Amino acid sequence: MSGPAPAHLAVTASTTVVGVIGDPIGHSLSPVLHNAAFGALGLDWVSVAFRVPPGRAAAALTGMRALGIAGLSVTMPHKHEVARLVDRLTPAAARLEAVNCVVRSGDELVGENTDGAGFVASLERGTGFDPSGARCVVLGAGGAARAVVLALAGAGAADIAVVNRTGAKAAAAAALAGPRGRVGAPADAVTADLVVNATPIGMGGMGSEGATSAVDPSRLHPGQVVADLVYHPLVTPWLRAASEAGATPLGGLGMLVHQAAAQLRCWTGSDAPLAAMWEAATGELASGEDGRPA
Ligand code: NAP
Repeated sequence: MSGPAPAHLAVTASTTVVGVIGDPIGHSLSPVLHNAAFGALGLDWVSVAFRVPPGRAAAALTGMRALGIAGLSVTMPHKHEVARLVDRLTPAAARLEAVNCVVRSGDELVGENTDGAGFVASLERGTGFDPSGARCVVLGAGGAARAVVLALAGAGAADIAVVNRTGAKAAAAAALAGPRGRVGAPADAVTADLVVNATPIGMGGMGSEGATSAVDPSRLHPGQVVADLVYHPLVTPWLRAASEAGATPLGGLGMLVHQAAAQLRCWTGSDAPLAAMWEAATGELASGEDGRPA
């Protein structure tokens, strides 16, 4: 990781340790976001990245218990496996069968999923959009899309159409929204109040040779909010097309910051210093070379 170390990083025997597990992990922004927050809050906490290969999540949680690690962020490929390993799941993590955050509660490890709440917080703070009663289209049906569908349903969206190239996955994601979820078609984007790209198209140059979006951006228009979960680059071809169509664009960095903020709240009980976290993330992304987040 490049960039200045947070001022508080004098790690001592009394420092509380949290971390992120995944593989690959070298480009995770979790330590950047959380260490910036600990610094701003003056907490004697530190976040470190642990590369945990596929199939080793159980050993990582055993290590967490033995070492007294206070919390873990969880990223690919471990989100589903960790959901089977913790002692208890929150309702969101149970519905998604995926955990992005492990919280220590006494001797118990609790699995939480903050991705969907992070998206809705980013939507509300970034654009003022209230999902209540809204018609929404979610492009993609992977882990991120599923979290967004569940959170939009929880926030009162009236209709959530999932558009995905693999139909069975679209149906499974739409089912998370109950009767307000359905498998959609690209044409649904025309009548939607909110259109969310939850595919990786546009990420790090992906799509530069083929499609630059999962639906034709000519379906977008003023009055809509158009979101991309991709945050590198900060402005994707999808967001550029949304702006050109007169829609309100929302990039993926807000979701990243808000899901990390929610994790921090789970671990520390403190409100997250969002400005410090945002600044750290943008600084780190700007310092990346070779087109990847550093
Ligand atoms: P995932 O589980 O692998 O799901 C990817 C989804 O995108 C699948 O539904 C897949 O369709 C679809 N897809 C992939 N390539 C496609 C293509 N070329 N054309 C059409 N559809 C395509 O991934 P994920 O974890 O959900 O992540 C999706 C994106 O969200 C990634 O870019 C990730 O970086 C981003 N993300 C951002 C945040 C944030 O905080 N901002 C958080 C999580 C994820 P099939 O089902 O047909 O395979």
